[in-house]
Amino acid sequence: MLALDRLKLALAQARRESSLVGVMFLDLDNFKHINDTLGHDAGDNLLIEAARRISSCLRGTSTVARLGGDEFLVILPGLTGPEATSQVAERILKTFAPPYLLNGQEVFVTTSIGISVFPNDSDNSGTLLQHADAAMYQAKHKGKSAYALFAPEMTEVSHERLQMESLMRRALEQKEFELYYQPIVRTESGQLCSAEALLRWNNPGMGMVMPDRFIPLAEETGLITPIGEWVLREACLAAIRWKESTGTDIGISVNVSPRQFRDPGFVDTVMNALKASGLPPQQLELEITERLILDNTIETADILRQLDQSGIRLSVDDFGTGYSALSYLKSYPFDTLKIDKSFVQDVMKEREDASLVKAIINMAHSLGLSVIAEGVEEEAQTHFLQQEGCDYSQGYFYSRPMPENEFQEWLKTNHRAL
Ligand code: C2E
Ligand code: CA
Ligand code: CA
Repeated sequence: MLALDRLKLALAQARRESSLVGVMFLDLDNFKHINDTLGHDAGDNLLIEAARRISSCLRGTSTVARLGGDEFLVILPGLTGPEATSQVAERILKTFAPPYLLNGQEVFVTTSIGISVFPNDSDNSGTLLQHADAAMYQAKHKGKSAYALFAPEMTEVSHERLQMESLMRRALEQKEFELYYQPIVRTESGQLCSAEALLRWNNPGMGMVMPDRFIPLAEETGLITPIGEWVLREACLAAIRWKESTGTDIGISVNVSPRQFRDPGFVDTVMNALKASGLPPQQLELEITERLILDNTIETADILRQLDQSGIRLSVDDFGTGYSALSYLKSYPFDTLKIDKSFVQDVMKEREDASLVKAIINMAHSLGLSVIAEGVEEEAQTHFLQQEGCDYSQGYFYSRPMPENEFQEWLKTNHRAL
């Protein structure tokens, strides 16, 4: 807070004197690795020494602050030209060159520096900080031990993406992913038949991240392939655990992104997950959105046929929201349609939605497909769905998605009720 106050004062003064203010964002490279391998005491000592080295490069009027973790802020007031910031950055990079002595061991630590300048880049302190941060990510991207001056194309969006991407790259090995399970029940009786696996990302910094926030980026970067493989393996193993604890076969549904289909090893990945767990293929259902059918860069038909022939079940997820021709339903080997929750939500309020749901159920049945209604939240909806002969239901009315231990508990009581 003191640093931010100083920054505001520096800006006020610079306005009066028509001088410039440099704002620097520093982030140590590999700090986490050192912290993890040498311990937190060594990490603390490193931070103290790093702060000392940064200070040694500055004049008395400058301010250094630690913003948190391994991030430092440097404020350079009263500059006469923007080049001065580069000179300071070069000095700082140079003082980082000698090794640090931690636990009697020599350790090399570098830093990446991002710079923004008042008033050239912005006249507002918050924006200057954001810009310096964006430039810092650019410096990291150049390779370690570098500095970068802000340029307008380094938008905030790209920074957030880069940060999320690098966190996601580590999430698998850090075991930050977790599957939640949501029951799918027979509409007629409320009896459990299967569960849908829904991915959660527990990140120490961001908290619990929901899939809508990270799956799109995982798809773009291709990280969905290893993540999806993990999901498949975990989900199959979970279904086997439930069989062991309840004595009944419970199916498991797994969401699959179109991008996963583009991986030539996808069918093998699925088969390996089944083999490793011992789950019979009939108990695994893959949920696929209509987007896949629209994506004609993929040999969809062939892959779906292979999966179908091995006994795995296939469902169309979010049915009714895509824009594909219905004819795909007769040419592809689907077993199930999942009616999107946007239709189910209003069946009791909107006549049109009720009609659509009725029509989807009839169409699916006449094509030999079974139907799951998603997003069932109220009892009245279950009566409607029962009356219309909807085979299965899923939604908050029955249960929210739960972590595995809660799901196991739910299983026990649900079984007793039967
Ligand atoms: P989805 O396949 O349509 O999953 C159903 C979503 O509806 C889940 O959101 C679930 O929590 C939510 N939901 C369930 N019942 C109700 C209800 O009664 N009311 C309302 N309003 N919502 C309900 P979630 O868990 O946030 O997942 C969002 C999407 O992320 C999923 O949509 C799916 O497309 C994707 N996703 C989740 N896990 C995976 C995964 O392992 N792999 C891939 N590729 N995608 C995943
Ligand atoms: Ca789904
Ligand atoms: Ca869905």
